[in-house]
Amino acid sequence: MPADYHTHTPLCRHANGTPEEFIAAGKIAGLSEYGISDHAPCLPEPFDDWRMLESELPDYFDWIDRARSAAAGTLAVRSGLECDWLTGCESWIEKLAARYPWDYLIGSVHYLGTWDFDNPKWLGRWAQSDVDAVWALYWKTYAEMAASGLFDVLAHPDLVKKFAHRPTGDLDRFYDPVIAAIAKGGSAIELNTAGWHKPCAEAYPHPRFLQLAAQAGIPLVISSDAHAPDEVGRDFPHAIELAKAAGYSETLRFDRRHRFPESL
Ligand code: ZN
Ligand code: FE
Ligand code: FE
Ligand code: ZN
Repeated sequence: MPADYHTHTPLCRHANGTPEEFIAAGKIAGLSEYGISDHAPCLPEPFDDWRMLESELPDYFDWIDRARSAAAGTLAVRSGLECDWLTGCESWIEKLAARYPWDYLIGSVHYLGTWDFDNPKWLGRWAQSDVDAVWALYWKTYAEMAASGLFDVLAHPDLVKKFAHRPTGDLDRFYDPVIAAIAKGGSAIELNTAGWHKPCAEAYPHPRFLQLAAQAGIPLVISSDAHAPDEVGRDFPHAIELAKAAGYSETLRFDRRHRFPESL
């Protein structure tokens, strides 16, 4: 199995499990490497209720150490963060990048302005929204994140479909500009299997997006976005099939923010 680089810890307040349990699950799943990428702190604090605080970064480093001890020579443990792309966040991301010898940083769009649109708390707001307009803003924001060049991996590309809100017609009109921005920015994207377990009932991104990404030469990783040990490496065989069908023959491994291809 490829590496699983998108996993969480209880420090984000909505994940469960010990480092030992997560590592045991990674071994059972047969992962090539295990990566930890919890929700990074955001300023000003308290920013929201689903991430660690800046003051908890030392606890996060301890958690990574405990995972490394639990894996001791049997599974490589990599360290990262899932960073939120927010207006004007660039200098904060650079500061976070310098705080630890990360193996990779993941960039995510969970916020459109002050709205964390993937939070089930705000489903009522979706009901009042123009889906086409939200999609247009989402992909514009995602393309800006891609152009920043601050991240090794861009998370769950079409997270905006999480609650099954999709515009009608050919969605290439949204995909084409962002694919160009990602290819130019140089980050990899992830095939995130968590979407299969959300109302959209589809991995992120849609197979068509994945096909366009493969054609554009955008590198890929496969991720579970596990928030509990039993989600580590979830649906990876299915994801590998999907990646191959889209034209991918390799994924990436990361070490101190350098990337290495790994054949699928
Ligand atoms: Zn989360
Ligand atoms: Fe996320
Ligand atoms: Fe995540
Ligand atoms: Zn995520």
